[in-house]
Amino acid sequence: MQTAIERPSSYVRYEFKEFGGKIFAAEHELPKVSGNEILVKTDFCGVCHSDVHIHEGFYGLGDGKKLTLEDRGIRLPVTLGHEVIGTVADVADNGDQSMVGKQFLVYPWVGCGECHECTTDQENLCTKPASLGVFRPGGYAQYLVVPHRRHLVDVTGLDPARASMLACSGLTVYSAIKKVLPVADVDSVVVIGCGGLGQLAIRMLSAMGIKNIHAVDISADKREIAKESGAKHAYDPTEDGVSQKILSETNNRTYAVLDFVGNEQSVNLGLSVLKKGSKLVIVGLHGGELRYPIPVIITKAISVIGSYTGSLGELKELVKFAHGNNFTDIPLEIRNLDQADSAVNDLEQGKVKGRIILQNK
Ligand SMILES: [Zn+2]
Ligand SMILES: [Zn+2]
Repeated sequence: MQTAIERPSSYVRYEFKEFGGKIFAAEHELPKVSGNEILVKTDFCGVCHSDVHIHEGFYGLGDGKKLTLEDRGIRLPVTLGHEVIGTVADVADNGDQSMVGKQFLVYPWVGCGECHECTTDQENLCTKPASLGVFRPGGYAQYLVVPHRRHLVDVTGLDPARASMLACSGLTVYSAIKKVLPVADVDSVVVIGCGGLGQLAIRMLSAMGIKNIHAVDISADKREIAKESGAKHAYDPTEDGVSQKILSETNNRTYAVLDFVGNEQSVNLGLSVLKKGSKLVIVGLHGGELRYPIPVIITKAISVIGSYTGSLGELKELVKFAHGNNFTDIPLEIRNLDQADSAVNDLEQGKVKGRIILQNK
C-alpha cells in the first residue's frame, strides 16, 4: 500500500499564453500517472536565466535575425521551471510505491528515451527533446509529471533549496568545465560574464583546485564578487586593451575561456586571448554571429565548443561533488510560488543579485 499523501483533484500551474505575456495561475486537473511516470509535488524551483529567454520567445542570431522558440517546437501555454526539488506524490500502479513521500532533484533535460543519445546518457542532446519546463510543464506549478524514475536524483544531505540550482545552472557550468579539464597549473581559465553562472563557475573551478582563474565583467560589483569567489584578476571589457592585459597577466597561457555571455563582443574577446591548443566554450545565449578567420582556428589548433545543459550522468557526478564542496553558496532569495511572474520580470531587468528560488509551501 502506498503512503497516504494528500492528492487533490486539481492543481495550479503558473503559465503564460503568449511569449512575453504575463505569467498567471491556471487551474488544471491533477493527472493520473501511468507507465513509468511519476507525479511530483514541487517543493522548490529555481528561476533561471533561460526562463527569461523562453518567456521572451526567441534567441538573437545577429543582424536582427531571430531563432524563435516556436520554431524550436515550443508550444503555448508554457509552464516554466526546470530546477525542481520535489516530493514524490504518486507513482503508477505497477511502480515502486516506496518512492512516495521521498524528496528528489528532478533531471529536466528529458529526451525521447529511445534514440542512441537517450540510451547512451546524452539525453540532453536528443533530437526530440521533451525537457521539463520547456516542452513539457515544469516546476512553476504545485505538481509536475516526471516521465521516468531515472530522472529523479537523490540529494539527501544537501540543502534542498540550494540543490535545486544543480539541475540547470550547476549542471550547465559543470558540463562546460568538464569540456576543458584537465587544466595544468601553469595555465589559466578565463571566465567571461560573472552573473549567476559565471560566479558558480569561478566557485566550482576553485573547488576543483584550478589555480589561475581570471574573470571578465562590465559591472564593477560583479568583478568584486568574482574576486571574492576565487578569481585572481577581474577585468572590465569596456576598457581599452583588455585582451592585452589578459594576455600579459596570464603569461599568454589561457588554456580555456568559458563564455557565459555569448555575444559577439564576448566571443571575440575570448578568441583573442586563446593560446595554441586551447578551448573556447560558449554557454551564454545573448546571441549574434561569429566571423573568424578559418586558418587561425587550424594553425592555433583551437576548439570552439557550444555547451548546453548536461547529461544525467554529469548531474549525478555533480551531486556527489556538491557533498563537501560549498560552491552553491551564493545569495538566495526564496519567494512564494505565486510570485513567479514578478520573479521572471525581476531577473529579466537585472534586479536579482544571486538566485530566486520559488517555494511551494
Ligand atoms: Zn532521444
Ligand atoms: Zn536553466
